[in-house]
Amino acid sequence: MSGPEHSCGVVGICANNDVASALYTALMIIQHRGQESAGISVFNEGSINTLKGNGLVDFALPRDDVKALQGKVGIAHVRYSTSSSKGIEYAQPFTVATNIGDVALAHNGELTNSSELRKKCMAEGSAFTTSSDAELIIKLLGRYMKQSDDIIKAIRGVMNELDGAYALTIMVNGRMFCVRDPYGFSPLCMGKLDDGYIVVSESSAIDALRGEFIKDIEPGEICEITQDGYKSYPATGDHPKAFCMFEWVYFARPDSVIDGREVYDVRRKIGEILARECPADVDLVMPIPDSGRAHAIGYACAAGIPYEEGFMKNRFAGRTFILPEQHQREFAVSMKMIPIKSTVNGKRIMIVDDSIVRGTTLKILVSMLREAGAKEVHVRIGCPPVIAPCYYGVDMKGRDEFIANHYDVEGIREIIGADSLGYISLPGLIEALGFKENDLCLACVNNKYPTHIPGEVHRFQSTLNTHFE
Ligand code: AMP
Repeated sequence: MSGPEHSCGVVGICANNDVASALYTALMIIQHRGQESAGISVFNEGSINTLKGNGLVDFALPRDDVKALQGKVGIAHVRYSTSSSKGIEYAQPFTVATNIGDVALAHNGELTNSSELRKKCMAEGSAFTTSSDAELIIKLLGRYMKQSDDIIKAIRGVMNELDGAYALTIMVNGRMFCVRDPYGFSPLCMGKLDDGYIVVSESSAIDALRGEFIKDIEPGEICEITQDGYKSYPATGDHPKAFCMFEWVYFARPDSVIDGREVYDVRRKIGEILARECPADVDLVMPIPDSGRAHAIGYACAAGIPYEEGFMKNRFAGRTFILPEQHQREFAVSMKMIPIKSTVNGKRIMIVDDSIVRGTTLKILVSMLREAGAKEVHVRIGCPPVIAPCYYGVDMKGRDEFIANHYDVEGIREIIGADSLGYISLPGLIEALGFKENDLCLACVNNKYPTHIPGEVHRFQSTLNTHFE
């Protein structure tokens, strides 16, 4: 069994009243982080009750069933996976019964040493029903809890075994914990609610529940959360950080604040820097909705060029990115986005998007704009060319699929049919993010991985060793 776990969303709430409805609201807010399945686990009268289903939150978790879930402590999850063969058994939270009580766990991220750990556990007698990282982590936790009643010690023991990306919410017999991996790949933050505390992947869920943001969970930190507050167990020692830049570029909601940087603000800055680095003489700037909107606003404002919405997006169309066949993806893009002819006709247009992966989206959109009468179509991209797979949870796997591994910028321009194409530079992106380069994971654009990945270049090695498949 093998199969990557993709970027997901996690949440956990401790309160003086039932938490299931608030967990449900939080899942709705982080729905963009995963649409394959959703689940809620609550602790009540000595045991954990779990509701899970496939599909979007409001389909997977019927409201009456959510209302019936009683418990003042709970965790929840939305899952993203590209493999349609993965069924309900992969939905989270995962739950197990242990010697000290029921345990539930929700995971966002992807481990890089899961095969080794799974083999080791199996050799020692563990059995698995899935290839999910969450199941592996919960089994490891069960083993450590057998050795000690000290749950923090047990969680630390598990953390010492894990490599890669993980933001976790964990419920152990009615106590709630959250954990962020020592690199801080995946986001996780904490807020105060009217009657308790929440930890969640993105701060916008705290806002939606009218709560108050307290802090980001620090890389390597464990927190125990109660109705009245939290106790932090920070990481010891100095560990390199690797915040995933793609959270700000594409993945997270614009209204979320991650590690002190508002996503919308970073995207606007990316647009401003793009305007500085790749200017063009055009009549208007248009976003690719919704992912390129803030980048395009930043570009238009900085360049002093009018901003227009020239594409109408069908918000009910599903995701095009994960469809298996190229012709399916192409058809889906043209169903999803329709140009507004009066905006486009006769104009020199600049379109701005967050990233090019395969180039499918832009190729179709550029030709649609030409059909709608655009005189020129220029393209600007808010992330340097994607060239290397993500092993930490973002759905970008095949080196061969990345158009930038086959063509240079001029070649890509020709394929997508644009009059000009410009990507933000890596220093420009780092400037917009406002972190030190070494505090970021930029592996998908610079091919230097923060952790050891067999066959890949570790970022602290000399680049002379660069390995391409
Ligand atoms: P492509 O058409 O393959 O070039 O994909 C690029 C488009 O997909 C961009 O508009 C992004 O907004 C979006 N995108 C980029 N990365 C991902 C991802 N990991 N999952 C889903 N969508 C993505």
